[in-house]
Amino acid sequence: MNWEVSKEIETLVPYAPGKPIEETKRELGLDHVVKLASNENALGPSPHVVEALKNALPEIHRYPDASGYALTQKLAAHLKVAPENLVLGNGSNELIDLLIRVFCRPGEKILVAEKSFIAYQICAQAAGVKTQSYPLEPGFQMPLRAIAEDLRSGRCEGAKILFLPNPNNPTGTYFNEEALVEVLEAAKGRKNFMVVLDEAYNEFVRASDYPDTLALARKYPQLVVMRTMAKVYGLAGLRVGYVVAPPQINDFLHRVRNPFNVNSLAQVAALAALDDKNYLTQAQKLVWDGLDYFYKELAALNFEYVESQGNFVLFDVGQPTPDVVSYLLKKGLILRPLAGYGLPNHLRMSVGLASENEFAISVLRQWRSEVSR
Ligand SMILES: *Cc1c(COP(=O)(O)O)cnc(C)c1O
Repeated sequence: MNWEVSKEIETLVPYAPGKPIEETKRELGLDHVVKLASNENALGPSPHVVEALKNALPEIHRYPDASGYALTQKLAAHLKVAPENLVLGNGSNELIDLLIRVFCRPGEKILVAEKSFIAYQICAQAAGVKTQSYPLEPGFQMPLRAIAEDLRSGRCEGAKILFLPNPNNPTGTYFNEEALVEVLEAAKGRKNFMVVLDEAYNEFVRASDYPDTLALARKYPQLVVMRTMAKVYGLAGLRVGYVVAPPQINDFLHRVRNPFNVNSLAQVAALAALDDKNYLTQAQKLVWDGLDYFYKELAALNFEYVESQGNFVLFDVGQPTPDVVSYLLKKGLILRPLAGYGLPNHLRMSVGLASENEFAISVLRQWRSEVSR
């Protein structure tokens, strides 16, 4: 049989996840492998989450609560929004997909920045939706000026959703409230158009002028805020994300989403994670100390890096990365190459435990002294 699919599906380049630890050990015959490639929380799960999951195991023969009632209530209280403002997702990735499928028809467009999170483009292509990309400004800054200008002058016809990751992955850069408001003002009154703020790393942000999007959302009904429990809450493997949006948007999302999109253990884990304030504080401190350590060491090794508001740092190795990546792998270090993002000489390194960070720097130092010219 020769199956025919749409040209969008046929040419789709799937998302390339970080290389798994076990696979690397097996392929290279290594005992010790450190993976700093997927922006995971190096602390491991909160012990409270593990306990709650154990207690929930005897109930996994039941279907999950399709409405995610308890988690929605808790998140609403936590965020100070109404429960009707929330939709839960199987990670924020599912919500990206859902927003595009619900609000864009084939042939219409989403707007993104180049070198920003690739999932928007992949989900759009799968749905037959086009992507209009704006080049970053110098210093890997998000091109909000250019986007606002196009929105004002009506140069993005057919555009339905603007996706703005803040801070951005893989660059770690962020934009402030003033820059965001300019875009929101430019979008004001544009029909059937929403601005989705993807705030996967918001708890790691140290910049004091980071936008308060939940407050802005009360003033700008086109603003949709998307967050995840995968990063600071350490639940990447369980897949929980959510959007904060007006009830009318959410009503459409609820019609299309899978009824049991967030599984029962994920709901239990997310509830327990929200209660563990200690874990959150620990995760923030780990990341902030780790970033400061990376900045100091990368500078000492003469790697140009980009200051980050996330739990990872982007740096330039001064040559195409495939050889560097295989050198590092042989030493047991997995970092993320970014050629797929148009950054052929850059690597992204997530913050790990202090010992993992030190290991990563020592391997990079070896590479510098043995190989790089
Ligand atoms: C990690 C990340 C996400 C989170 O995706 P999940 O599906 O919730 O794991 C979303 N957006 C960005 C920019 C990310 O880096």
